[in-house]
Amino acid sequence: MKDEETIAAISTPMGEGGIGIIRISGDKSFEITKKIFKPVSEVREIRSRHLYLGHIIDPEKGNRIDEVLTAFYKSPHTYTREDMVEINCHGGMVAQKKILELAIKYGARIAEPGEFTKRAFLNGRIDLSQAEAVIDIIRSKTERALMLANRQLAGGFSEMIKSIRSELVQIMAHIEANIDFPEDDIPEADPVQIKNEIQKSKNRIKMAIKNLESGKMLRDGLSTIILGRTNVGKSSLLNALLNEERAIVTDVPGTTRDIIEEYININGIPVKIIDTAGIRETGDKVEMIGVERAKRYLNEAEMVLLVIDASIEITEEDRRIFDMAKDKFAVIVINKTDLPSRIDEKEIEKILPEKKIIRISALKNQGIEELKNEIYNSIVEKMGPIDENAIIATQRQKKAMEDAASYLEKALKSLEENMPIEVIEIDIRESWEKLGEIIGDTASEDIINAIFENFCIGK
Ligand code: GDP
Repeated sequence: MKDEETIAAISTPMGEGGIGIIRISGDKSFEITKKIFKPVSEVREIRSRHLYLGHIIDPEKGNRIDEVLTAFYKSPHTYTREDMVEINCHGGMVAQKKILELAIKYGARIAEPGEFTKRAFLNGRIDLSQAEAVIDIIRSKTERALMLANRQLAGGFSEMIKSIRSELVQIMAHIEANIDFPEDDIPEADPVQIKNEIQKSKNRIKMAIKNLESGKMLRDGLSTIILGRTNVGKSSLLNALLNEERAIVTDVPGTTRDIIEEYININGIPVKIIDTAGIRETGDKVEMIGVERAKRYLNEAEMVLLVIDASIEITEEDRRIFDMAKDKFAVIVINKTDLPSRIDEKEIEKILPEKKIIRISALKNQGIEELKNEIYNSIVEKMGPIDENAIIATQRQKKAMEDAASYLEKALKSLEENMPIEVIEIDIRESWEKLGEIIGDTASEDIINAIFENFCIGK
């Protein structure tokens, strides 16, 4: 193991909590801890992976900082593969900070975001795609996304990448044998066979890219905007949807008339619902800002729930909103169907052809299940089946896959144009390197640093 500095960080979230954990990793972690931790009963020899009850004491002043449970983990069977210590203290900010300060004072330095996981990668315990899966586990919004992230952490995706890479190595070996020993008895590289092999690897990459798209949806969700004029029942619909399946609430700063963002879980797909203050022309300044935002969100939204009031005829304002949404992926929601209907569905069909119409009563909680099923079916129809092969990947990984596939396409084209076999090999090698970036074999330091900067402190 390299002679790295010992690092320390508070690994639990900021604020008050039942417990707080300070993590230390590196050669000096035991030594530092022994200086500031006093077990309640005498310990002759520290045993790895045992918990010790005791106190953190400021060695200079001799005063107690907190009562803690300390675990020592001996390298290499640790998160980072280095010696590690975890101090479980009471979850107050002052105690946690003070313990961290003492660890720093006695030889550690503050860990950068993601540095523990970065060390796990640099020390070879996990590869880059597994390290990224750690963030996905932390940020999972539904159980299904969590399951996928776990599969990635276990190395399923990496195994696939490695297997495609080894196919490419085979092809390159095949080509090289011909270049290096042209006079020998090695049968000449058969272009048809090489073509088939490249094609096969390319198809595997393409298939994986498809699976990444389902994975992206499962991880990031589908941003959906609830659109409709004031009083059609947008807030009521949001509440009805959130009632059962509220997943996560995210804070979007702004005024009360601003935009609310929440996640609902629809068959494992986190659907991020953006509720708007109502898109309409208005002189009210605060509302204007809301309208501007809503328009912007409409551009960014991947799906629209277009709400219409069944109890009154379609208004001019409705029409203007229909117009905004006509080119979007949208489900039409006719609300207030508990009231006598005064709406002409035929007219809606005419204005917005080929969009699914669902009838609900947000107030009476009717039709909500049907709406959810329709949202799910529409997503599947649009994006393709969300099967068990879904892979969670980052934008970076997806880009590398796409580049890898296009190098193979280039190789196939060169082959068709009877280019020298060396040229084809170069493209295959490029493809192999791109795939290597995913697992970190051929990733540059910049890429690696950028990835870990996304982590939280203490992970
Ligand atoms: P928003 O301005 O589009 O967000 O509309 P709200 O959700 O605030 O609803 C406006 C009014 O319509 C409220 O008084 C709701 O109680 C009422 N409302 C909403 N949904 C229904 C419904 O399904 N049936 C009936 N009868 N009233 C509803």
